[in-house]
Amino acid sequence: MDIFENPILCRKCRKEMQKRQIEKDGFLLRVVECPDCKARFMHPTDEAEYNRFKQLRNKTFRVKMRIIGNSYAVSIPREIVNFIKEQEKIMDDMVRMCFSDSRRLSLSFGEDSEEELAEVGE
Ligand SMILES: [Zn+2]
Repeated sequence: MDIFENPILCRKCRKEMQKRQIEKDGFLLRVVECPDCKARFMHPTDEAEYNRFKQLRNKTFRVKMRIIGNSYAVSIPREIVNFIKEQEKIMDDMVRMCFSDSRRLSLSFGEDSEEELAEVGE
């Protein structure tokens, strides 16, 4: 049984804490919050996942650019792909790429169709 299926009382106020979801860095995290003092804690599973993400986020990977046809390719470290796969459950083989500033290229995984897409041929 999931720990959050049970009523959880605030240690200080003795009130039942309310289940909520908060969004942090693209993660949907389950929390319980006290209606009085607003004390809250995260679901242990979500907290562990989020901590794994924070460790990965602070890592810098040096990857090589390779020429493939008219394009350049870089490899995404397996560590990152595995993590995203676990989060998304299914990972599309299409990612969105955006030249966000003159020295930064960003990749977006998963559903999010707000940006305009440009198809690039090989
Ligand atoms: Zn409280």
